[in-house]
Amino acid sequence: MSIADNIKSLKNETNPIKVQLIAVSKTKPAEEIMEAYDAGQRLFGENMVQELVDKYEKLPKDIKWHLIGHLQSNKVKYIAPFISMIQSVDSLKLLEEINKHAEKNNRVIDCLLQIYIADEETKYGLGFDEVIELLRSDEYTGLSHIRIRGLMGIATNTDTEKQIKDEFYELKTFFDGIKQSYFRQDPTFDVLSMGMSSDYKIAIEQGSNMVRLGSTIFGQRIIKHWKNN
Ligand SMILES: *Cc1c(COP(=O)(O)O)cnc(C)c1O
Repeated sequence: MSIADNIKSLKNETNPIKVQLIAVSKTKPAEEIMEAYDAGQRLFGENMVQELVDKYEKLPKDIKWHLIGHLQSNKVKYIAPFISMIQSVDSLKLLEEINKHAEKNNRVIDCLLQIYIADEETKYGLGFDEVIELLRSDEYTGLSHIRIRGLMGIATNTDTEKQIKDEFYELKTFFDGIKQSYFRQDPTFDVLSMGMSSDYKIAIEQGSNMVRLGSTIFGQRIIKHWKNN
């Protein structure tokens, strides 16, 4: 199937159940992104700041870009003028930095807190107790140029379906609890981003309303930089 066919069939699958589809275009060239764009896709995810900035400059301005990879504080300034959502917030320090640059750009930047749910030491993210600590802090309460829209999580890379299901279940339960306790008056806390190509069906069953799909749309990634393709 072509990229356009993949977008159409995934939209048919996700639109009726109100699950948002992020097309993860990391390492993919502009022409392939345009194929998805021409099929109606407007939400794209990237994990590297420099690649994201290059693509933002080159591609149509009505694309909404989501950063889904680890963000270093000293790189926030490059994406603050245009980023639609930062899904990978994993510290209060980073949130403060995003707030500072959002303010400089007269913007409020939508963020997700990335939660550590996988059984893998290589993955980034906040623990459940760290999220609560962050949300209770005076520093967080004072930030007026960021808006926490929800949570993001990456499950363990495993063939054991039960484990993936349990991790997503745990994150959904935590999301509901956080919403009840800290965002009851705030209907914009409404995004639960979980599910990638290998596990998005399980994620949706467990209550995800945003999936991040790369290889299902664009095919397997060859590990090289998109500029050199
Ligand atoms: C690369 C990536 C994805 C997409 O991965 P696929 O397996 O190609 O769907 C989703 N989320 C994050 C955080 C990623 O880095």
